[in-house]
Amino acid sequence: MSIFGWSYPPGCHSVPGDEADPPCEVCGMFPEDCICPECPRCEEIGSLGCYQEVDLGVCGELFGKKTLAQELAYAQFLARDAYQQWQDAESYVDYLKSLTAEQEENEK
Ligand SMILES: [Zn+2]
Ligand SMILES: [Zn+2]
Repeated sequence: MSIFGWSYPPGCHSVPGDEADPPCEVCGMFPEDCICPECPRCEEIGSLGCYQEVDLGVCGELFGKKTLAQELAYAQFLARDAYQQWQDAESYVDYLKSLTAEQEENEK
């Protein structure tokens, strides 16, 4: 179950990371701003597998060790993302309203 689990009509929702690199899965920052430490076990930076409970073959070395700064950065990323989705939804509402108004105009 994803936090991004709600969907929009086709063509409405802009996909984040379409033109740039996708944000870090752990801290939500873009790669050049990523604040994640290097994993002591697998030496990856910002790999979600390092922060998951160890099963399914994931690393898990950093499980439960997310710093407050990482949590904060990720919370801000979620907030920005939600805001973006809200804006997309609002502009779709406006679009439909303008279509409705146009239709009413034509019916006069
Ligand atoms: Zn990161
Ligand atoms: Zn790791």
